[in-house]
Amino acid sequence: MIKSGFEKGKNMSNSEEFFSRAQKVIPGGVNSPVRSFSKVGGQPVFIRKAEGAFLFDEDGRELIDYVGSWGPMILGHANPKVIAAVQSAASRGLSYGAPTEIEIRLAEKIISFFPNLDLVRLVSSGTEATMSAIRLARGATNREIIVKFEGCYHGHADSLLVKAGSGALTLGEPDSLGIPKDLAKKTIVLEYNNISSVSELFSKQGKEIAAIIVEPVAGNMGCVPPVKGFLGTLREVCDKNGSLLIFDEVMTGFRVSPGGAQQIYGIKPDLTTLGKILGGGMPVGAFGGKKEIMEQIAPLGGIYQAGTLSGNPLAMQSGLATLDMLEDHKIYESLENRSAILTEEMKRLAEEVGIPFQTNRVGSMFSIFFTKTNPVTKFADVLEADNIQFVKFFRGMLEKGIYLAPSPFESGFVSIEHSDQIIKTTLEAAKKTFNEIGNT
Ligand code: PLP
Repeated sequence: MIKSGFEKGKNMSNSEEFFSRAQKVIPGGVNSPVRSFSKVGGQPVFIRKAEGAFLFDEDGRELIDYVGSWGPMILGHANPKVIAAVQSAASRGLSYGAPTEIEIRLAEKIISFFPNLDLVRLVSSGTEATMSAIRLARGATNREIIVKFEGCYHGHADSLLVKAGSGALTLGEPDSLGIPKDLAKKTIVLEYNNISSVSELFSKQGKEIAAIIVEPVAGNMGCVPPVKGFLGTLREVCDKNGSLLIFDEVMTGFRVSPGGAQQIYGIKPDLTTLGKILGGGMPVGAFGGKKEIMEQIAPLGGIYQAGTLSGNPLAMQSGLATLDMLEDHKIYESLENRSAILTEEMKRLAEEVGIPFQTNRVGSMFSIFFTKTNPVTKFADVLEADNIQFVKFFRGMLEKGIYLAPSPFESGFVSIEHSDQIIKTTLEAAKKTFNEIGNT
């Protein structure tokens, strides 16, 4: 399947040439750091187009794609209905900066998937959604401290790019240069799935805490599902202390089930953030929740939030066409079945050659860990996994035309275009790659 990366008479592939050009005008040559391949070495593959389950790179290679634009492409690439909806919207103008009926339709549709939301505000990215939800939670509770969990990523707003300080219950420290230390102190970082640390913190400081923000299935340390009782405890401590519970479903929304993780685990957050699949590949995010909280946002209330391109008509059409198709819930059964075969077979193949290997999966969101630790439930488990094996596997798979996320801390995604045959081809590549790794 994979074709040569070099054109006749050239000593550099097109991707190499583009990367070198890109680095002269774009920091690191990429517009988002994880695209840089810094975790796996080598250099990024430049993409010319995408269709179905495939990416087509600038060197004429066809790659089976398990990144899916980091989650949005649940319908596969260039879905004809989504493309037609966007094309039709484009012919009517690209942006008006005034209300449209399509925004109402998308908001109504979101609420039909997430019945726990009374009101929803549309924004242009997941980062905007979480940043706004945090501001709303602080404004609505008149408290400043927020709680997040190690290994969860909620976009790059200052309050959320915070890591744990030293000691179990100490205040957070900036996880990036440029974030004020004083602000980072307002974020407390706990271990994911550690129920007792949550109870302990709330018994000491519960009345100061504005909100807990959590990925209800973590996707940004690989896929790590919540252990039994974790999400329920978060709900309980928030209720007891007047804090808000924010489920960041930017990745899990419309992915792990039509109604996200809150549908699967039966826990109702106060606020929910959405993105990725919601835009079907266009830049859309959203945050929503209970009426009495959401009504505190401008123009109704005093908590400010705004956006020039919020509710952009092309993005709305793309999102609506995507959600329309996801109303056929049979899609989720087929995603579940194929994703299960993919991960279970991969694990069996690794075991055959004696490579310590685990997979985690919820619906069509999965990840692989080169580790003996089973199950993988927290960031420390993920850090313990063998990164060198991961890099070898990633490179071996890429050589065979399989495009996995270029980092051991990311989830993979299966789309409805990943047919049985495509899964089979992937597993054949995995078998060869495990054998190669096993022999080195
Ligand atoms: N929240 C979660 C759970 C995410 O996975 C991401 C992005 O990966 C974000 C928020 C930020 O979204 P965006 O990259 O659209 O700003």
